[in-house]
Amino acid sequence: MHRKIPLYIDGSFTESKASQWMDVINPATQEKLSEVPLTTGDEMEAAVQSACAAFEEWQNVPLPTRVRYFFKYQDLLKKNQDEIAKILCEENGKNFVDGQGDVWRGIEVVEHACAAATHLMGETVENVARNVDTSSYSQPMGVFAGITPFNFPAMIPLWMFPLAIVSGNTFVLKPSEQDPLTPTLLTELFHECGLPKGVLNVIHGGADQVNFLCDHPKIRGVSFVGSAAVGQHVYKRASESMKRVQCFAGAKNHLVVMPDASKDQAVSALAASSCGASGQRCMAISVAVLVGEAGEWVDDIRGQMEGLTPGHWSHEKSSYGPMISSRAKERAQSLIQEGVDQGADLFLDGRKVLVEGYEKGNWLGPTLFDNVNPEMSIYREEIFAPVLCLVRVSSLDEATRLINANPYGNGTSIYTSSGAAARKFRREVQAGQVGINIPIPVPLPFFSFTGWKGSFYGDQHAYGKQAFRFYTETKTVTQRWFNDDSVLSKPNMTIRYDKE
Ligand code: NAD
Repeated sequence: MHRKIPLYIDGSFTESKASQWMDVINPATQEKLSEVPLTTGDEMEAAVQSACAAFEEWQNVPLPTRVRYFFKYQDLLKKNQDEIAKILCEENGKNFVDGQGDVWRGIEVVEHACAAATHLMGETVENVARNVDTSSYSQPMGVFAGITPFNFPAMIPLWMFPLAIVSGNTFVLKPSEQDPLTPTLLTELFHECGLPKGVLNVIHGGADQVNFLCDHPKIRGVSFVGSAAVGQHVYKRASESMKRVQCFAGAKNHLVVMPDASKDQAVSALAASSCGASGQRCMAISVAVLVGEAGEWVDDIRGQMEGLTPGHWSHEKSSYGPMISSRAKERAQSLIQEGVDQGADLFLDGRKVLVEGYEKGNWLGPTLFDNVNPEMSIYREEIFAPVLCLVRVSSLDEATRLINANPYGNGTSIYTSSGAAARKFRREVQAGQVGINIPIPVPLPFFSFTGWKGSFYGDQHAYGKQAFRFYTETKTVTQRWFNDDSVLSKPNMTIRYDKE
């Protein structure tokens, strides 16, 4: 499988002339899968110039024609979904079902792109003054850039470029350097659809390449998904040159368990949502808030978590895969140690877990802390690992206050059998995605995926339904129709709105 990751510039796959390359490592074996270039300045400039040139024509391609390319893309992605998922699992480590889910959630966004006409529709009000009508149009803006994280190497690039491109823009994508094989395969399939050259360009690298995109004067907007620190950097840097920016960043998602919840469902949801995909989901649950008597279910939670076994993606029984890198594993291990040092009770310690036959993998077993408080670093930091923190409170109000005080607000859930408690929580909690008896409430693309506070900022038009607003400029046109003699005979520089 080993090959160098190509750039995709001006409709061609080319080998970068970069002097620096990074290894792409299989996290279950440490085997080198590929090398990814730190794209040179000239190559990045060529990518942006190609996108600029392509925009001149692409913006005028009729919308039904643009949409038809995405029907074709959806078909190709569906035909190749298992092949994409296998490559994704090799480089990212997630188990096969999760790999398939990652691809499928991306395909759903492409299907959403096929409905662009409805979402790009403007508005019209006739006769806002005598013989005057007002209409609004959504128009493409130019070149957009996308910067994506490692944890959903299919879904997140597909959150971005299909919606930007179907709206009439052109795009430069910079995927994660940790798992670039998947986006490369997505690009190869896109290339097969025959879109004009330059409509999509893909460059690779890390901080320098991201900074280039943030600074480039020809790039009109940047969509970023990644960690809190990098998100803040991208937001500040890209807004400095007046770009439209949206940042989906870190998370610390809480699941509230009320004493009237179904214990079996709540406990199983907690285990699956904290450890699934090795806890490396932005919507993973990392804090369980046990209300009142639900605080007595700690042994049940531990029992469920103990039943989960990490393993290689090709083994059906693997509950989840390795951490993405040895560095990510070491960081999680050191945060676990800090938790112990700061006085939390380590109820289940995953640090010594090994997987037979894959001893070099970045494995971390399910890890459970009890008696965690908000001052501890395991509560404050996004660990992004299969680690669950338990916090006990005495009421729903106290649980909601705790969640609302957290600097993040990506997702949250409540398990309860009370409609009143569920409704109160839904209304009062400050988070973008709220689950009621569902642990990871990720909406389909015809809704918006958002986030509150430090989890999502910048332009508030997010993935999905409203993303068409992010990728377009609104133009509102007010027009007087010269079919009224009184207007013609008495020229007036202003529009007279009727007051009565
Ligand atoms: P990351 O921030 O390390 O990397 C994201 C992108 O930024 C990558 O393309 C990377 O190359 C680039 N980058 C890394 N360091 C940089 C730097 N110093 N300067 C400029 N660019 C830099 O994130 P990650 O570890 O790949 O992904 C995990 C994070 O993403 C988690 O925090 C997770 O919560 C978050 N995430 C959020 C959402 C959401 O919707 N809110 C979705 C998925 C992931």
